[in-house]
Amino acid sequence: MNSYYATCPRCGAKFYKDEPWKKVCLDCWLKAKRKPETSSDSYVMSLKSEIRNLRHIVDYYEGYCRQLEQENAQKANGKFAGHIKDLIFLCHPDKHNNNPKATAVTAWLLEARKELCQ
Ligand SMILES: [Zn+2]
Repeated sequence: MNSYYATCPRCGAKFYKDEPWKKVCLDCWLKAKRKPETSSDSYVMSLKSEIRNLRHIVDYYEGYCRQLEQENAQKANGKFAGHIKDLIFLCHPDKHNNNPKATAVTAWLLEARKELCQ
């Protein structure tokens, strides 16, 4: 095949067609080649941005979960503290013929009351 100047079907520019596979000018060929890289770059950028946003959301909900856990623990402690005097009264070994279980449970409740009062 003879080399000749051809007209690029995309932009209309003349280009030197020295190979049969050269269908468009060099500028159009490079533009077509570059395009997927550019779009994959912007895809990676958008994924990175999405990851950053999701990390912020995860951070927010982790903090919110910690707050709820603390509030639940305080509520549970509050309920327990409201009944601990009655529990100690009901479990006292004097009321259970000095049963070792009553002694152990009462000791545990007294320890728990000490921790709650700190
Ligand atoms: Zn062209």
